[in-house]
Amino acid sequence: MNLKLSRYNVWADVGERSGVFNGMTGALTVMAREERHAVEEFVAGHGSGESIAARLEELVRKRVIINENHDELAELRQRYDATRWRSDALAYTVVTSLGCNFDCPYCFESKHPSLLKPEVADALVGVLRDSLPNINRLAVTWMGGEPLLGSDQLFDLSERLISICDANDKEYSASIITNGWYLTAEMARALDARRVRSAQVTIDGPPDIDDVNRPHRGGGPTFTRIVENIAQAADHIEVQVRINVDTNNAHRAEELLVLLADAGLAGRVRVGLGKITDAVSNAAAPLASYTKSCLTGPEFGSFELAFNAIAEAYGFGFPGAPQPVGTPCTAVRAGELVVGSDGEMWKCWDDIGDPTQAIGTISDYRTTNSQLQKWLEYHPADDPHCSTCIAMPVCMGGCAHHDFHTDDRDARCGSFRHNHVDRVTGLLRRSAGLDAGPLPDLARFDPLPGRLISATPVTLSLRPVRV
Ligand code: SF4
Ligand code: SF4
Repeated sequence: MNLKLSRYNVWADVGERSGVFNGMTGALTVMAREERHAVEEFVAGHGSGESIAARLEELVRKRVIINENHDELAELRQRYDATRWRSDALAYTVVTSLGCNFDCPYCFESKHPSLLKPEVADALVGVLRDSLPNINRLAVTWMGGEPLLGSDQLFDLSERLISICDANDKEYSASIITNGWYLTAEMARALDARRVRSAQVTIDGPPDIDDVNRPHRGGGPTFTRIVENIAQAADHIEVQVRINVDTNNAHRAEELLVLLADAGLAGRVRVGLGKITDAVSNAAAPLASYTKSCLTGPEFGSFELAFNAIAEAYGFGFPGAPQPVGTPCTAVRAGELVVGSDGEMWKCWDDIGDPTQAIGTISDYRTTNSQLQKWLEYHPADDPHCSTCIAMPVCMGGCAHHDFHTDDRDARCGSFRHNHVDRVTGLLRRSAGLDAGPLPDLARFDPLPGRLISATPVTLSLRPVRV
C-alpha cells in the first residue's frame, strides 16, 4: 500500500526534537529529529521502515500518515455535512432580555428593552416536545442583551426544559453569556441549580479601559463590581473571562491579568481573547458607529500566542492544542436556533435584534424565509481558500457572518491559520520539557513593527513566574 503524509500535518523542530500536530485528530507526536527524517524517507518510498515500525504505527493511528488514495478534503466535507444536518441534537440560544444595562460602544446588537414573552417560552417548550422522538440532547445558551435582566424568565424556562428532558431521558446542558453585573454568588447558585454550569464574562482591560469600553447605561464604572462578582461566582459555576482586543487595548492585557490574579482568580477562571472586528450587518448596532482599530489576522494570531504564554505564567492555565470540529458555530447547523425575546428566529448571534435577518418566528418554526438559505449553503469545502487551508479541520470555515458582511474575507479566519507553526513549536517545547524562552512583554507587544506602539509603561504589582 502506498502511503502519504496528511496535508493537515504541522511540523516543528526545536533542537534535536521534532513534533507533528495533525488537525484531523488534534494529536501531537513528539520524536527525535532524526526519526522525523526516517519517517519522511519511508513515506517517500526509501527504506523498509523496520527500525521505526512502532513510530510508524503510531503515526498511522494519529493520521499523520495516510493511504495515498485517501481524500482528506472529502472526509472533511462529510464531517461538516454530518454535523450540519445532525438531527439527534437540538440547541437553542435564547434571548431572555434584549435590553441591557451596559452601553458598550462596540456592541454588535441593536437592543431595546424586551423580556422573553410567555408565549415564546411556550413555543420553545413545544419545539422541544416535537423534537423528542429524534433527539438525545438539548443544549441551551442563555444570551441577551443582558440575559440576567430576564433571570425570572430564564429560571422558569430552564425548569420546564429540564423537567421534559429528565422525564424523557434526554441530556440537558446550559451556559450563559453575561456582562457579569448581576452574577453574584446567589445568582451563580441559582444558575447552577438550573444546570447553567458555565458563564462567559467580558472584561476589556484595567478599569480605565474597561469602564470606558463597557460602561453602565447612563454612565458609571463596572469593572470593580464585575471582578468581585466573578470571584464569588467562580465558587459555583465555571467562569471564562473574555478580553476583546484591538490596537487600543491589547497592550494593556497583562495589567488586567495582574488585577485578576490579585483578586484571587488565577487557577479559578479561564481567560481567552476575542477579536474586535468591523463586520457590521446591523446598521442600528453601536458597532456600526464605533471607531475601530482592528488587529489584522496575523497580528491577532501573534498576539494570542504572547497572551497565552503570559496568562499561563500568571496561573491561568494553557489552552492546549486546537481540536477538530465538525462545523464552526451554531449559525450553520440546521438543528440550532437563536430565538429572540419576541419570538424572532435567527441563525447567527450577530444578527440578534436585527429584524431584517430573522429567518422566521418560533411560533411557526417550520416556516422559514429565504434568509435561512445562505447559512445552510455556507460550505468551507467549496471555498478556494478554506479547501487549501492548513487550519480547515480545526476551523471549518470560521465565521460565516464575517464572510457575508465584510470585504476582508480573512476576517472570518481562526487564529490557527496564522500562528500554527509557532503554536505547534510551543506545544512541542512543552511536551518535550524544553525551555520556553523569555516571556513576551505584552505592554510593548509589537506584532508587526509600527502597529502597536501606543503602549505606555506600566508598573505591575505581580510579575509572572514561569511554572
Ligand atoms: S482559517 Fe480561514 S481559510 Fe482557513 S478554514 Fe478557517 S475560514 Fe477557511
Ligand atoms: S456566524 Fe460568526 S458571528 Fe455568527 S454565530 Fe457564527 S461565529 Fe458568531
